[in-house]
Amino acid sequence: MSLQVRSLASGSSGNAFLVRTTAGVFLIDAGLSARALERVLRQHSVEPSALTAIVVSHEHHDHAQGAGPLARRFQVPIICTPGTARALEPALQGVEVRTLHVDGTTVGDVDVWSFALPHDAAEPAGILLRHQGWTVGIALDFGHIQPHIISALQEADLVVIEANHDRERLLATAYPWSTKHRIMGDYGHLSNLQAAQLIEAIGQDGKRRDVWLGHLSEKANENPQGVIKIVRNYLSMQELPPVKLAIAERGKPSASWHSDLALQQSDLFGIC
Ligand SMILES: [Zn+2]
Ligand SMILES: [Zn+2]
Repeated sequence: MSLQVRSLASGSSGNAFLVRTTAGVFLIDAGLSARALERVLRQHSVEPSALTAIVVSHEHHDHAQGAGPLARRFQVPIICTPGTARALEPALQGVEVRTLHVDGTTVGDVDVWSFALPHDAAEPAGILLRHQGWTVGIALDFGHIQPHIISALQEADLVVIEANHDRERLLATAYPWSTKHRIMGDYGHLSNLQAAQLIEAIGQDGKRRDVWLGHLSEKANENPQGVIKIVRNYLSMQELPPVKLAIAERGKPSASWHSDLALQQSDLFGIC
């Protein structure tokens, strides 16, 4: 009995995560083209028609571009908030949409819950997936930390958040000021420092967990190793329970997590 998660891609060029349970297969975000999603799913031995559901966090292109076409072609239901469903019309025509409300929904052997995120989309959501005592929490695009986000993610054994940018690097890019302002704003994206502060806040409950950092900006952030180093340095100065960090990389499958291994390894790692 297990819960498995695989990062298929994460970043402004597309986000997608594969979640397998005992009896289900879920795609969390579909921010690649439908063709690219088909290809990467099959690379992971998943026939798109076998997907239990596609959960879409919000309507932005890098999270939703492949959702409608893939769902329609393979008759897979989409789960999203009512606001996201409205924002994605008409791309969802002919697709079964199950709306995600605050009291959650059960799909097969998984409970799917959402919580609101401060981001410049219609009704963006963080996602909690619960299966047989394990929980995965995915909250990628948001501009500032709110108490309910901390408490929602504290439930998770695997937390997936963004470490989008390094503030100094962002300011040094050639982006127009309006773009920089949007990214750094309260409804934009988390910086590396904010990601570290969020991990610190989540860790106040003393629970051991894995954390993936995703949605790294190509132009306004360090490379994956650099981001890990920045966050690890910050966390090493705090009194925290062990946190295992990994990067959900841009444009390719990378981090993977398995509840059985998390259990076995829970005594082995410190902040690593
Ligand atoms: Zn977004
Ligand atoms: Zn995004």
